[in-house]
Amino acid sequence: MTVLEIAPKNYRSGFVALIGRPNVGKSTLINQFLGKKIAITSPIAQTTRNRLRAILTTPNAQLVLVDTPGIHKPHHLLGERLVASSRKVIGEVDSVLLILDASEAPGRGDSFIVRMLKNQSIPVVIVLNKWDLVARKDRLERIKEYENLLANNEWPIFCCSAMTGNGCDELIDNLSTSLPVGPYLYPSTISSDQPENILLSELIREQILLNTREEVPHSIAVTIDRIEEIPKGSSAKKTAVLATIFVERKSQKGILIGKGGSMLKIIGKAARLQMQKIIDGPVYLELFVKVVPDWRSKPAILAELGYKGN
Ligand code: GDP
Ligand code: MG
Repeated sequence: MTVLEIAPKNYRSGFVALIGRPNVGKSTLINQFLGKKIAITSPIAQTTRNRLRAILTTPNAQLVLVDTPGIHKPHHLLGERLVASSRKVIGEVDSVLLILDASEAPGRGDSFIVRMLKNQSIPVVIVLNKWDLVARKDRLERIKEYENLLANNEWPIFCCSAMTGNGCDELIDNLSTSLPVGPYLYPSTISSDQPENILLSELIREQILLNTREEVPHSIAVTIDRIEEIPKGSSAKKTAVLATIFVERKSQKGILIGKGGSMLKIIGKAARLQMQKIIDGPVYLELFVKVVPDWRSKPAILAELGYKGN
C-alpha cells in the first residue's frame, strides 16, 4: 500500500472527465496540463482508444483527468464500445470538462453532446479550444455561436489553446474549484496511472497513424509482448521492447512493412525516440506485424487487447 501525504487545509481533489468530439484536442490539452507526453495526439480522429488517467497535482488541488474516446455515431462493435465508455465515464467523475473546437462553428455533434450533458447533475466547465486559430475579428461572433449552442446553461466558458498553453492556467484554476474538498488521491509525484506498456503501445500506434495512409489507421491495434533490460545488470543497459501490430488485411501488412521494410523502419525509429522520453536510457524496439482478419468484430480478441466490453 502507498502512504499518501496529508493534503493542505481546504485542498480539493477529484476526477474530471474530458469530453468532446474526436479531434477537438483532448489529448493535446492533457499533455499541455502536464507538460509532458502522456496522451497520444494525432491529426487523425478517433485515436484515443484506452481510457487514460492523467494526474495533475497543483498547490490547490489534485485533478485526475480521464480522457475519453471521442463521442460519435457507432459504426461497428469497436465504435459502440467507445461511445459506451464515454457515457459510462460521466457517471464516475466529479466534474466534466467539455472541450469544443472553436476553429469551427458549432456542429450537430456538439449539440448531441450538450444534450447528453444537460441530463446530468454534475458540474460542467466549457472550453473553446484552438482559440489560436480564430482570427481576432471573428472571436466575438464565435463566442456568441457557442453561447447559443449552450443556451440557458450556467456552465462557465473559457477560451484556450491546448497547443500554445494560452488560457490553460485559468482553466485549471476553475476546474479545481469545481471539485470537492478532499485528500490526495494519488502520490503527488506521479502523473499517470496507465501501465507503462499501454503508454508504449500508444506511442507505436501514434507513429503508425502519422506515417501511413488512411486505409490502415482504424484497423490496427498494438500489444507490447515484452519489456526487458539487456544485458541484465550491465551499466550500459538498453531496454528492449518487443511489440506486435495487428492488422485486418494482408494488404495493410504490406503497407506497414513497406518496400524492403522501409516503412516499419521509419515507424520503429520514431516510436523508439518517443519511448526514450518515458523510459530512462536507450531503447531497442522490435516490431512484428500480424494479420488477424476482422479483429475489431471479435469480442475475444478485443478483450485480449484491453477493450473490455463492460
Ligand atoms: P483528441 O482526438 O480530442 O484527443 O485530439 P488531439 O489532441 O489528438 O488533437 C487533434 C489535432 O488538433 C492535433 O493535430 C493537434 O495538434 C491539434 N490541436 C489540438 N489543440 C490545438 C490548439 O489549441 N490549437 C491548434 N492550432 N491545434 C490544436
Ligand atoms: Mg485523443
